[in-house]
Amino acid sequence: MDFISTRNNSERVSFTEALFRGLAPDGGLYRPLSTPDLTSFFTSLSDKVPFNELAAGLTTALLAPEIDQETAKSIIMDAFDFAPRFVEVFPGIHVLELFHGPSCAFKDFGASFLASSMNRLLAGRDERAIIVTATSGDTGSAVAQAFHGKNRIDVVILYPSGRVSPLQEKQLTTLGGNITALEVNGNFDDCQRMAKAAFTDDALADLPLSSANSINLGRLIPQSFYYVWAWTRMRYIGDFAFVVPSGNFGNITAGLYAAAWGLPVNRFVAATNANDVVPEYLKTGNYRPRSSVATFSNAMDVGAPSNYERLEDLYHKDVEVFRKHIEGLTVDDETTLETIRRVHFDYHYLCCPHTAVGWRAAEIYRDRNPGVPVALLSTAHPGKFVEIVEKATGRRPELPGALAKLMERKKEAIPIGNTDSDLRNWLLSRFG
Ligand SMILES: *Cc1c(COP(=O)(O)O)cnc(C)c1O
Repeated sequence: MDFISTRNNSERVSFTEALFRGLAPDGGLYRPLSTPDLTSFFTSLSDKVPFNELAAGLTTALLAPEIDQETAKSIIMDAFDFAPRFVEVFPGIHVLELFHGPSCAFKDFGASFLASSMNRLLAGRDERAIIVTATSGDTGSAVAQAFHGKNRIDVVILYPSGRVSPLQEKQLTTLGGNITALEVNGNFDDCQRMAKAAFTDDALADLPLSSANSINLGRLIPQSFYYVWAWTRMRYIGDFAFVVPSGNFGNITAGLYAAAWGLPVNRFVAATNANDVVPEYLKTGNYRPRSSVATFSNAMDVGAPSNYERLEDLYHKDVEVFRKHIEGLTVDDETTLETIRRVHFDYHYLCCPHTAVGWRAAEIYRDRNPGVPVALLSTAHPGKFVEIVEKATGRRPELPGALAKLMERKKEAIPIGNTDSDLRNWLLSRFG
């Protein structure tokens, strides 16, 4: 399978090239050039297939001959020592828990696959890479955990001093080894600008810099694996819907790709918070990106979702075609809190604010489509959002074990100024 930019002004590239480039040279996002028909692969899967086995099979089906069966297997075994879980919390509402990885959020699936495939492909060419990435808190931790211990890659993470939560800071600064945290005396915009500038800095041209941001194809493709895995557990043919709490729309795009490749699922519901540009587009036909507003489900506070470009491409910019595949539903903060509370007391299930947005959307969807079963993607562990869950339920959720351990470890970060040359000088002294 080859890949091409959503803006169509760049040459087609292999998976490996798309992986190390991240963004296409024309500023677009890479997307599959063709739409393979994997119907027979999907229907051949048993309803007990282990997640790893499915992931390796799907990787080969999509990326061979570039990634052969053996390479795919080794990437998958290295990437996933965790798996999704599937729980029927209420008859007809299945929850696909995606928070059993190292950072306790679904982004672990994408980040782990990206890290393992980069490391494996670098080993094949006897090369190294340096990942430079900026974070406002949460996304950086999945990247840091995923790349930790990869022997061909150094990771440099920039984060704004004093502006990430204590738990997030521990996730970024306690790993050591090949992960270096730079504590920037500035804000997130400074961090992002510095990281971006490094990629076009002539003085750094000799360093093998690469990025790991969320639009990377190597993070998108593996997110399709768990949709297929969930389908093997349900095997509904006919009316059935995935409900996906959405912000940047990477997660749902991966599901829509799986459907395009032949997964027999006919409905996707994009659940958003007040940042509802896509639901609004589906309603009105006008796409109007805007600045984001802060909500309780803050990982979904995105006013201009970058994966919209991939969706536009998939549906030929035709809102009618969009509407055939996706429905948009919006849930406000007050309802989010009320839903966390109600799900806890009625079903004895604790969910994070993002998952709660999805839960409420699932209920609304089922009111309109009685009897249609749904699978709700649960994107983070409730224990990562202690304050909000406590505010909703009066109960303080426990921090997941993997994260509780980090809280005891010592922070190690290198303080740095907030100019582009501060980062340039540090990179040259460390790697030059
Ligand atoms: C990133 C994130 C989302 C949104 O996923 P997108 O792919 O950006 O739509 C939802 N919930 C959590 C917990 C996240 O971290």
